Amino acid sequence: MTVDTRKDWDTYFMDIAYMVSTRSRCSRRHVGAVLVQGKKLLGTAYNGAPMGVPDCSEAGCMIAEEYELVDVDGKQEMVKKQRCVRTIHAEQNLLLFTDRIDREGSSVYVTDEPCWTCANMLANSGVTEIVYHRPYPKDTEKVTEMMRQKGITFRRLPVYEPPRETVMTVAD
Ligand SMILES: [Zn+2]
Ligand SMILES: [Zn+2]
Repeated sequence: MTVDTRKDWDTYFMDIAYMVSTRSRCSRRHVGAVLVQGKKLLGTAYNGAPMGVPDCSEAGCMIAEEYELVDVDGKQEMVKKQRCVRTIHAEQNLLLFTDRIDREGSSVYVTDEPCWTCANMLANSGVTEIVYHRPYPKDTEKVTEMMRQKGITFRRLPVYEPPRETVMTVAD
């Protein structure tokens, strides 16, 4: 009997998403996303500036500050957060570079839990499953509720180790 030491599909596609994320030129956040139909890879995308305009490595991140309600030791506090708004998010690029017909009934593997805007767009894109790894607690509650309403499978890989060379510390 031979032991099957191949990676399971979740690990396989999440590894690819992490690999794709290394293409990102934003020094604050590297996000990768892949579109999977059945067991077939139909598209890959990462966060980045529109083609032909300076990216974060050339022009620096475009920082926006906003206050967010976050949980600090069980207490809700308003905390000022910085985000880079230069880039198109990986999930949105994935939608820009794939066809609707390919997306019907497909899965998206994304390194980071989608923000509200991306989740909203994915929910209307034909995708029926979203799998992510790193949590993004800011929007979890409303995103999870919306996915439930849409009947989209929304799940986090609980036990998963990304390939070491693909990981960058994500600023929160
Ligand atoms: Zn940036
Ligand atoms: Zn997003």
